[in-house]
Amino acid sequence: MNKINKVLIANRGEIALRILRACKELGIKTVAVYSTADKFLKHVRLADEAVCIGPHSSVASYLNIPALIAAAEVTHADAIHPGYGFLSENADFAQCVEESGFIFIGPYADNIRVMGDKVSAIKAMQGSNVPCVPGSGGGLGTDDKENIAIANKIGLPIIIKASGGGGGRGMRVVEKQKDLLSSIELTKTEAQNFFGNSEVYMEKFLTTPRHVEIQILADEHGNAVHLGERDCSMQRRHQKVVEEAPAPGITPELRNKIGSICADACKKINYRGAGTFEFLFENDEFYFIEMNTRIQVEHPVTEMITGIDIVREQILIADGQKLSFTQDDVNIKGFAIECRINAEDPNNFMPSPGKITQFHVAGGLGVRIDSHVYNGYSVPPHYDSMIGKLITFADTRLGAIIKMQNALGEMVVDGIKTNIPLQTCIMEDEIFRKGGMNIHYLEKMLERLH
Ligand code: ADP
Repeated sequence: MNKINKVLIANRGEIALRILRACKELGIKTVAVYSTADKFLKHVRLADEAVCIGPHSSVASYLNIPALIAAAEVTHADAIHPGYGFLSENADFAQCVEESGFIFIGPYADNIRVMGDKVSAIKAMQGSNVPCVPGSGGGLGTDDKENIAIANKIGLPIIIKASGGGGGRGMRVVEKQKDLLSSIELTKTEAQNFFGNSEVYMEKFLTTPRHVEIQILADEHGNAVHLGERDCSMQRRHQKVVEEAPAPGITPELRNKIGSICADACKKINYRGAGTFEFLFENDEFYFIEMNTRIQVEHPVTEMITGIDIVREQILIADGQKLSFTQDDVNIKGFAIECRINAEDPNNFMPSPGKITQFHVAGGLGVRIDSHVYNGYSVPPHYDSMIGKLITFADTRLGAIIKMQNALGEMVVDGIKTNIPLQTCIMEDEIFRKGGMNIHYLEKMLERLH
């Protein structure tokens, strides 16, 4: 390593453990930070050093920038890995980390800032030949006539979206022209209240798209590669439930075409680190919706089909190293599926925190588990309910599904409720088995089940 000898992991749960493992393999020392509710997290026990940064509330701990910087200072860490969620896409945090003399294991603060605002992200993409959803291309003004004209040009139905939106909030679909102006006003008010920014824009509403995203890696020396795509169409309330790679029906030609466009865009916008271009995919066309400037929950499926350790690459890139491989070295082989395992009631999706009294994991060839929980671990009620990810890999998609079915059947998680029964239903579902479902399919399937 050039500059990084000790990494502070500014996160919790499975991703903190994932980052710790990557650091250990690289011979890098680790600092875990934890809230008072997380003293018994697995990575806290395994890290070289551990610092309590505050009480259970995220605002007072994992989102507490001064506490994180102070922890890095007292432990003499060189770099901070933000994981996903929490501060991972907070440009001010990335800037503060760098200004305090640490390396941020992620993109430059400016990259995060541009991509954090949907209108500026779309503008950057349009300037880099990335296909976007037909739309206003910029924030809407106050001229009603002009807004009606824009909507007519796009053609109904349209979706009004907040520039500063996220987490599936601040969006409204308009099907009838009479609802257009009132919907714009309502979304603006919501956007102001939720995100402190009233800017909204308009896009064509795609009725039956799939969610297909491209993983990229870019270094600070102007090299960028794509690692193919993932299909994350199985969603409930805009939350991904099952992810897979490669996406059914995407030909190598289509993959290389859209992947090269994304890699080129990274070079054009001077992007550094790992990132994901999220697209809606309908009638064989890709439409950019947003870029995630961080590691994603579903990164393992890409790792399984490429053999590339994405977290390791993030660290090497942040260390200032050149990518050690080119696009030609990236070979996609086999099929991988990931099921998110959540501590929740599979019938009503209510969180189910509490003590895990028995925990046995699945195993065998092509079965991977990324999870921080263990026998006797108590899932705290304060954070996301995901307790791990089960990933299977096989030569064929059906092979990966059958492995997943068996692996889900082997899992024992007693003491709390989990969504394992739901994931089992999904793996048995005939339409899922065919592949290529659109983003509404899971919700329809759930209606049928209940
Ligand atoms: P967020 O940042 O809040 O997650 P996104 O722009 O990623 O917002 O959109 C979230 C989800 O909303 C998408 O995955 C898709 O289901 C739906 N969506 C967004 N834009 C459109 C569109 N133009 N047409 C159809 N659905 C859309």
